Formats: sequence, structure tokens, C-alpha cells
Amino acid sequence: MRVLVIEDDAKVAGAVRSGLAGEGYEAVIARTGEDGYFRATTEPFDVILLDLGLPGRSGLEILAGLRARGLTVPVLVLTARDTVEDRVAGLDSGADDYLVKPFAFAELLARIRALVRRGRPDVALRVRLADLELDPVARTVRRGDTPIDLTVREFELLAYLLRHQGQIVSREMLARDVWKEPSRGTPLDNVIDVHITHLRKKVDQPFSPRLIHTIRGVGFLVKEGDQ
Ligand code: CA
Repeated sequence: MRVLVIEDDAKVAGAVRSGLAGEGYEAVIARTGEDGYFRATTEPFDVILLDLGLPGRSGLEILAGLRARGLTVPVLVLTARDTVEDRVAGLDSGADDYLVKPFAFAELLARIRALVRRGRPDVALRVRLADLELDPVARTVRRGDTPIDLTVREFELLAYLLRHQGQIVSREMLARDVWKEPSRGTPLDNVIDVHITHLRKKVDQPFSPRLIHTIRGVGFLVKEGDQ
């Protein structure tokens, strides 16, 4: 089991990591909000432990960002603050549970186990937008009740766009991250456009609302409704 620990306090992070290692869990430590957010959106985790007071991006901002992207991985908030307002704000932002520092490791472990039992990791990794759902483990895509057949490349392309939903994705980003060809002599623009056209025919044209938008001269934007 992989646990992402987003915590700037080296002592707390180190203690949590060695405690989890003793249980056979792999803990990945992120010391800043930016690093934590990046890892949470690019790597699969079974559960995330999230400190609220972080340098840069705050824990609540990270949480809201993950949930806005449709990531449903269980999040356990760790905080030194113990006010009702903070708890409510954390739970409102999509936290699954809450633990106030200092805590006993046995308590942390019990909470993690409960969260993992509740949210199976394959469910936690699913990405959604409107009625579109992509499951990276089963490698299936559906809109509502309709399964959609995609080629391997179309699937990777859609997964990338969905993980960047609400952000403009350029053709350079797609060449680098989906095609893994950042420095090709001939740009991949035409290849990318053909794949986007095919993807649209399968994912967007038979359905409503439209989800894949072209931003002329810039790239693509995946979001619900008109740009
Ligand atoms: Ca902190």
C-alpha cells in the first residue's frame, strides 16, 4: 500500500514514515504543498495524509484542488489546529477524516486502515467529469451507462486531459507527456489533432454536454459546458 504524506515538519514526517514502514506500507513524503499536489495528481496512492499548515499551497487548497479534479483518493487531514471551524473547513473541502496533532501512531494506523477499507484503490483512482468516467486500473471509459471503446493512445490522451481538467493543455505538453517525444524534428501537431478528432467523435459527439474544447492557437481545454 502506498501512502502519500504531505507534511513540512521533518520530525512528524519521519516518524510517520518509519511507523508505516514497520507495517509494510510504503510512505512517500512531500515537504511542500506544491510537491504534494504534483505527486497526488500524477502518482497512484491508496491514501493521503495531509497537513493543513504547509509552506506555499495550503492543505485546504490542495484538498479542494484534488476534489475539483475528480480525484477521490481518501484524505486524512493532520493538523495542529483543533477548532471546530478548521474541522468543518477540512471536511467541507473533501477530507475523509481528521486527526489532531499530537496523535498516537496506533490511532493514525487505525484511521488509515478504516479509510482504505472504505475506498478501494481502483475506485479512488477513477477520474470523472460530468457523466464521463475513466478508470485507469480497469482501463475503461464510460459516459453515463454507455461504455466507450478507445485505442491505447486515445485512452492515454483522454486520461491526461482529464487529469488537467480546467487547465489549457498545449500540443507541446501532449507531445512531451503523452507521446513522450518532446524534441521531434517534425512537430506532432497534425498527429495530435487527428487523435483529438477521433476522441471527440467517441467521447463528445454522441453526448451532451461537450467536454473537449479547442482553444484556437493555444491547445485544448477539457471542462463541462462552453469555454
Ligand atoms: Ca505544518
